[in-house]
Amino acid sequence: MPSGRVHNLINIAAYSVLAAAALVLSRQELLTVTPVQALNFTVAYAAGTFLLSPDLDLADGRVDSKRHWGLLGFVWVPYGKLFRHRGLSHSWVIGPLTRLAYLALLLTLVVGVLRYAAPGLTLPTIPQPISMKFVLPLVLGYFLSQWLHLIADGIRPDHGFRQGARKLRLQRHRPRSGRSRSRRA
Ligand SMILES: [Zn+2]
Repeated sequence: MPSGRVHNLINIAAYSVLAAAALVLSRQELLTVTPVQALNFTVAYAAGTFLLSPDLDLADGRVDSKRHWGLLGFVWVPYGKLFRHRGLSHSWVIGPLTRLAYLALLLTLVVGVLRYAAPGLTLPTIPQPISMKFVLPLVLGYFLSQWLHLIADGIRPDHGFRQGARKLRLQRHRPRSGRSRSRRA
């Protein structure tokens, strides 16, 4: 299985190919990408690669993505304890969503504490309404970065379902066995 650094290199290489292809297609007027859309895609792709990698399910160990959070790396330790390595966190749809939900929960907690500690404080709000053209590149960038990680890990899109089915079969045939955690991604 690739290490965090190899995952990063794969994602950077794939981004370069995509950016070059997008440039060629837009020159030939086959694709229209606004600078804001390109920026949104890039930001979400970079966040998914460097800050929200599926390997955060190992966050109680030394993980590349946790290291990128610097002093805030500790906030991912509960996530690492909550999710088994290469389990649900490494599924194609729910996995990336668990990290977004966890991040949203952390932000809600921080906002709650700030509101309580300083009631007069004006916090930035999300401008409404948000257009699909704005959100779609964010979603695409984030999910693509995650899927490339899963492909490099050799995980198929039906991973979550197969795991669930295997668990059911195991429960039916024998008592639960101990979990093993790998240090490597
Ligand atoms: Zn992984």
